[in-house]
Amino acid sequence: MPNRRRAPDSQIRVAAAIPAGIPWLEVGELQPMSPPAGRTDLLLASTPPYDLVIYPGRQAQAPPQPKLPFRTGTASAAEPTPPSGPDAAPQLLVGTSKVWKVPPRVPRGRKPKAKTGNPVPALKPVRHGPLGADARRTAAQRRQTGACMICHYKKTTCTPDKADSGAPCISCRSRELPCVAYRVTDVVLYREQDAPCHLFSKRWKSMDMIDITEWADNDVRTIKISLAFLEAPFEVEVRKFVPLPGDSLEEKWVDKTGNLKTWPVPPYGIVCMAQAADSISGMIDSNVGIYIRSLIGAGTGDESQLLWQTYLAAFKHCENAPTEAEKKLLCNTFRLWVSCRLTSHPDRIVGDDHLGMRQIDDPDSPFEHMTPSPPVLGAQLECIMYSCFLRPLSEKVLRNLMELMEARRQSTWYTIYLALFLLLHSCAMMTRRDMEYARLVSLDDTLANPQGIYKQMCGATTLLAHFHFAIKGAVPFRLALHGPSSELGTHGALLPDQVDFIVDSAALVDRIRPKWRDLRPTESYGHDFYWISQMFDENWKGDKMA
Ligand SMILES: [Zn+2]
Ligand SMILES: [Zn+2]
Repeated sequence: MPNRRRAPDSQIRVAAAIPAGIPWLEVGELQPMSPPAGRTDLLLASTPPYDLVIYPGRQAQAPPQPKLPFRTGTASAAEPTPPSGPDAAPQLLVGTSKVWKVPPRVPRGRKPKAKTGNPVPALKPVRHGPLGADARRTAAQRRQTGACMICHYKKTTCTPDKADSGAPCISCRSRELPCVAYRVTDVVLYREQDAPCHLFSKRWKSMDMIDITEWADNDVRTIKISLAFLEAPFEVEVRKFVPLPGDSLEEKWVDKTGNLKTWPVPPYGIVCMAQAADSISGMIDSNVGIYIRSLIGAGTGDESQLLWQTYLAAFKHCENAPTEAEKKLLCNTFRLWVSCRLTSHPDRIVGDDHLGMRQIDDPDSPFEHMTPSPPVLGAQLECIMYSCFLRPLSEKVLRNLMELMEARRQSTWYTIYLALFLLLHSCAMMTRRDMEYARLVSLDDTLANPQGIYKQMCGATTLLAHFHFAIKGAVPFRLALHGPSSELGTHGALLPDQVDFIVDSAALVDRIRPKWRDLRPTESYGHDFYWISQMFDENWKGDKMA
C-alpha cells in the first residue's frame, strides 16, 4: 500500500473533542447571523484570535486583522504524525486574507433530475414468489454456499425447499419473511469499474497503478489539484509525457445548443502515483469537514435540514462513539464518502502553476473560469482512487459493518444508522453524478457507467434489507413519533442528546414523507432521498421498488 502515511482508522481529525489550540475543524452551534434557527453548523476555526466561521452559501466572517492564516494539517502530540517531505508544511488554503469566500457550489440547474422511465434495470433482491430460471440457479448455488440472511442472523439452520430449490427456505416461508442470500460483505459501495474512463486514456487496462515511463522532457513541476467547486487541494508532481494513441489532450463538453466543444490541454501526467496517493490521503483526512459543508451545507427546508443534521451527528460520532470499532466504521465511511466524491466530480488545477493553460471561458463548461486537470492525469487519479481508497476502504467498512450487525447489539444501532445513512446517500449522489456526466459528454445512455451504478444500487438494497430485517432499524423512529418514548432510549441504547436527535429526525421525516411517495414509482434513483427514505419504512419490502 502506498498510502503508508494515512492516519489510523479512528483518527480522522475531527475536532469535536480535540483539545483547544488545534487549528483544525470544529463542530459547534451556530453563531449569530445563522441560517435556520437551531441548526448546528460546522465551524472552521483556527487558534484564537483568528476565528473563521463559514456558513453555507455565505461569506466567512472573520475578525479584523487576522494574525494567522487558516490552515489545515497542523498536529499536536495527540494527533497522528504529520506527513514528512513536501506535505510536512501545513497547506495554506488562503493566505492572510481576512475573508475566505466559500466557493460556489455547482449550480443545481446543471443537475438533471432523475426521470421516469430511467433505463436502470429494476432491482428485486427481495422476493416472495417463484423465481426465474437464472435466479433459481443462483438460489440453488446459494443453498450450497450458506444460509439466507434471516437464518444467518438467527443462527438457525437454513433448510431449502427440496421440492423447489428456488423457493424461500422453510424458515422464511413459515414466517412469511423475504428470503435473501446477499451478505453485507457482498455489497458494492461505490461505482466499480475495471479501468479508467476510456475517454481520458486507453493506456490502462486495469486500475493497477502503473506509472508512465515515456517522458517528453526532464522538467518536473508541482501542481495543486482540487475538486472544481471546493477548496481542498492536494499536491502532485507532474511531467510532460509522450502522448500515445488514445490519450485525450483536450477537455470536452456539450454546450447549450448541443455542439461538442473542446479546449486544448497539455500532455502532463503524474510522475509517481504512489506518492500522489500519499498526498491525497493527507488531503482527505484534513478536509472531510470542507467536503461535507460544500456538498451538504447548502439548501434550506426539511430535507436539507435532515441531511445536514445527520451528517453532523455522524461527524461528531466519529469521536464520540463508544467503541473503537464504531469509530473506525464512521471514520472510514467518511473517507470512502469523500473518495466517492473525488472520483465523481470534476477537478481543476489550483495554485500558481497551471501548466501554461488558460482558464476556460465558456459558461456552458463545468470549468468556466477554471483550469481543468489534464484527462490523462484524470485517468491516473482514477487508478489511485480505486486501488488505494475506494476498494480497500469499502472492504474495511463492509467488514466492520457486518461485524457490528451480526453482533446485533442495541448499543450499536445509532452508529449503524449513521453509517448507512451516509452510504445510501452516497449511492444516490453517485447515480446523479453519473447521469450528469453522461449528459455532459453527450452519451446515448442515461448513465455513463450503468453496470457500476447498478451494482452499487443492488448494494444499497442489500444494506436496507439488513438494516430492516437484522436490526429492525426503523423501530426507533416509530417509537420517537408514537411512543412509548421510554423505549426509545432502550431500543437504540441512546444517550439523551441522541434521543433528541432521533426525535427531531423522526419529526422531520414525518413532515417530508408525503414528498417521498413518488420517488420509487418514478425510479428517481438519483434523488438525495431515494434510498434514505426507505430507512424509515418499518414495513419495507424490497420488491416494491420496481
Ligand atoms: Zn434460511
Ligand atoms: Zn430464508
